[in-house]
Amino acid sequence: MVLILTILTQIGGLIYLLAFFLARKLQQTSAVFTAVFLGFYLIATFLIVPTLAPFFGRTALPVTGNLQPLNFTTCLLNRHYVTPELKEQVISISDDLEEKYEGSTTNYLDANFPFYNGFPLFPHLSHHDGKKLDLAFFYKKGGLAVDDAPSFIGYGVFEDPIEGEPNSPADCDRRGYWLYGLLSSFVPQWNKDDYEVDVERTRFLLKLLASDEQTSKIFIEPHLKQRWRLKRFDKIRYHGCHAVRHDDHIHTQIR
Ligand SMILES: [Zn+2]
Repeated sequence: MVLILTILTQIGGLIYLLAFFLARKLQQTSAVFTAVFLGFYLIATFLIVPTLAPFFGRTALPVTGNLQPLNFTTCLLNRHYVTPELKEQVISISDDLEEKYEGSTTNYLDANFPFYNGFPLFPHLSHHDGKKLDLAFFYKKGGLAVDDAPSFIGYGVFEDPIEGEPNSPADCDRRGYWLYGLLSSFVPQWNKDDYEVDVERTRFLLKLLASDEQTSKIFIEPHLKQRWRLKRFDKIRYHGCHAVRHDDHIHTQIR
């Protein structure tokens, strides 16, 4: 349990131990233990961690405004911490996007944990230094722009390659990288046909990111780079088979 909580939330395991020993010392029941754990966890997540994170060069992304989490659980799990530079960059980009497409919210997915460089945010092994962030695509439903996504976590509902396009998911599968597309087996696909990617807004977001001096790399699948006519942007690259599919979200990172 301690291990699972640490992998999911970084601080959860430690708080679990604290609550466990406290409940045992006071000879309390498991109901009291659960209440103490939840209370400590929420106080730590919303009051203590945001205060301590700046000492580790991290700051929390906003919960409301033009830049928001697609799913609030991301913040509840302390997975929304970045460097101040990255925060400033994405907020400014989300403001530019809202100016062009009024009412549009840019949704973020997993970022980084609040403490220590080198502590990876599972399963994204590179999200360990505050400089990496995943963003959701924009979508349309019934032809109208919406602010949510077909996958409630933002990952796992793929924009598959079509005939004639580069097909790295099939390539990686053939080469034995079975983890590459595994996520779609766990994420419900029932919304897939109701949503379509809003290419115009997603492409605009990608162009804003790729034109920003601070950005070092952006990952999307090669077939989407081709389909969305983004060839001239060198910062938009392919990540290789050892990662996971990037035709369900955007990965961006700064220098
Ligand atoms: Zn990523």
